[in-house]
Amino acid sequence: MLPFQNTYSELPDRFFARMEPSPVKAPALIRLNEGLAEALGLDPVVLSSPEGVDMLSGNRFPETADPIALAYAGHQFGNFVPQLGDGRAVLVGEVVDPEGIRFDLHLKGSGRTPFSRGGDGRAAVGPVLREYIVAEAMHALGIPTTRALAAVSTGEPVYREARLPGAVLARVALSHVRVGTFQYFAAREDVDAIARLGRHVIDRLYPELAAAERPALALLEAVVARQARLIARWMSVGFIHGVMNTDNMAISGETIDFGPCAFMDFYHPGRVYSSIDHYGRYAFGNQPAMAQWNLAQFAQCVLPLIDRDLEAAVVPAQAAIDAFPALFEREKLEVFAAKLGFSGPRQGDGELLQELLEAMSRNEADFTLTFRRLAQSLEADTDRGSRSLFVDPTEFDRWAGKWRARLDEEGVPLSEIAARLNAANPIYIPRNHMVEEALHAAVDRDDMQPFETLLKVLADPFTEREGLERFSLPPEPGEEVRQTFCG
Ligand code: AMP
Ligand code: MG
Ligand code: MG
Repeated sequence: MLPFQNTYSELPDRFFARMEPSPVKAPALIRLNEGLAEALGLDPVVLSSPEGVDMLSGNRFPETADPIALAYAGHQFGNFVPQLGDGRAVLVGEVVDPEGIRFDLHLKGSGRTPFSRGGDGRAAVGPVLREYIVAEAMHALGIPTTRALAAVSTGEPVYREARLPGAVLARVALSHVRVGTFQYFAAREDVDAIARLGRHVIDRLYPELAAAERPALALLEAVVARQARLIARWMSVGFIHGVMNTDNMAISGETIDFGPCAFMDFYHPGRVYSSIDHYGRYAFGNQPAMAQWNLAQFAQCVLPLIDRDLEAAVVPAQAAIDAFPALFEREKLEVFAAKLGFSGPRQGDGELLQELLEAMSRNEADFTLTFRRLAQSLEADTDRGSRSLFVDPTEFDRWAGKWRARLDEEGVPLSEIAARLNAANPIYIPRNHMVEEALHAAVDRDDMQPFETLLKVLADPFTEREGLERFSLPPEPGEEVRQTFCG
């Protein structure tokens, strides 16, 4: 009934550590993502049964599973750590969905592993629910991401600054191979392992590259392109990952490891929420540069696969990394053209966008609503909604004049533009104060209603609905959450 496959655990033993269950006292389902379960071809009834909850909490694994903790390294805030690995997670196995796509089922908070070092291997319920909310919101926004299949409470406390209820997140990803996985073997000069890993990710994530003349170079180029696309999409919704360490960058191009991440309310390119990001390394506007830096680390790892003569490998590898800024700009112009109601980017659109962003930043305009209200200003023929977001509304007016002139070039009725705008600009995002409110209710009062409501709102982020206005609004001065924390 839970038919796992295990291609990763067929790799050599040094890629992982095999895991036994480390049971928790009283596993209980907090929430099952039934829609995702069904999409994966897993029966929600089985997953909610005692057998299913045992599996989702890591208490007992099905016969077909071959659970492992994955080895990886990583640059954390620029400092290389040669061994990190799954210190509180286990890859249960792989599930192939009805369309033939293979997914990892991974438990976070499932207990100590050989990679735990001093850690307890556990997770608190707050961060588990936070990842659940944000991952599902990302998915609904159409942005590649790992997804939340279930959250299970353990019936055991975890000790952080305080004693907190423990939980396990069951998440699903196209793959958990990270830049840091390659770095783990590169640090050990284990070229054979890098080659095996490279073949594994091509087979699984980039099968079309197997026939390329130089598959390793093609892989590097493809990973660069996917990251350019991913980061442009993050930027289009005001998302700040917060911990873009190389161990938190997936080769699949999915958003992974939601820690102290945040969706920005008031726009500023220097915005930082993470309590551990003291120097703003991973500030909103730095994300493209940090992605490129991470990709350069990846390139370094695959050099020996590109050419045995490393000097000959450097030239094309460097070119692949140098291509990132232009690829990113192209992706960014494409997504933002849609957010401005254009059928595609034209000459001058980059400057027009930049002017808006600069005005937004000077005026602390709300990122999400500035774009969302553009449609209103066409439909109702009044800029009131957008203008009110600017400290100096005439700054919006000046920009809007140029924008309307550009819209004339589209040659379609304004009603059609308005529909495009509403399809490209979400009204509901997981605003920090709404997320905090839901987590407080769950953790402090055992009240799951705000969490459930928020999930429902965020599942359909582009459709404005009656009675949900408070979910669309930026925080009042007293409500603003300026810092987010790690789990
Ligand atoms: P993260 O900050 O979640 O990306 O994790 C960075 C590294 O620390 C990874 O190797 C994690 O497995 C490990 N880690 C994080 N929290 C814990 C914990 N509570 N116990 C053991 N290892 C942990
Ligand atoms: Mg091993
Ligand atoms: Mg991580």
